[in-house]
Amino acid sequence: MLNYYRYKEVYELFLKGKPDEAKHLLMDLQSRYIEVCDENNVLKSQVQEFEDILYLSKNLVYDGSYYWLITGNIKQGPFCSACYNRDGILIRLHDDGEARKCYNCGTQYERDNAVAAAQGVEKSAAPQRLAKVIPLYK
Ligand SMILES: [Zn+2]
Repeated sequence: MLNYYRYKEVYELFLKGKPDEAKHLLMDLQSRYIEVCDENNVLKSQVQEFEDILYLSKNLVYDGSYYWLITGNIKQGPFCSACYNRDGILIRLHDDGEARKCYNCGTQYERDNAVAAAQGVEKSAAPQRLAKVIPLYK
């Protein structure tokens, strides 16, 4: 932990004519400061990721076929349920009037019954995830 008294000690060492000791202590403090800044940046990005996940959990809805993101009064989407369930990513579906297709995984959703039919991609046997997995250690 950085503190005021360690910096004051550097100042006093310079005043006492001990520049080598002051420089050594100052280098140590700089090194610790850099470590704290790096840790702070990591923590900020983790907080941002948690905020994003919280936002999605509050505003992402599944209608049985697609995911929709509600932002204010706007309903954005539809998003590919296969991509979100497998990878936790939101890919907007392309609508050609007859079907909705995901350009990421190739899944095609028929508009009539809105049942997903995988084309060119085999369905994964992996269990569906309901939330984004956050690694605890990087
Ligand atoms: Zn997809």
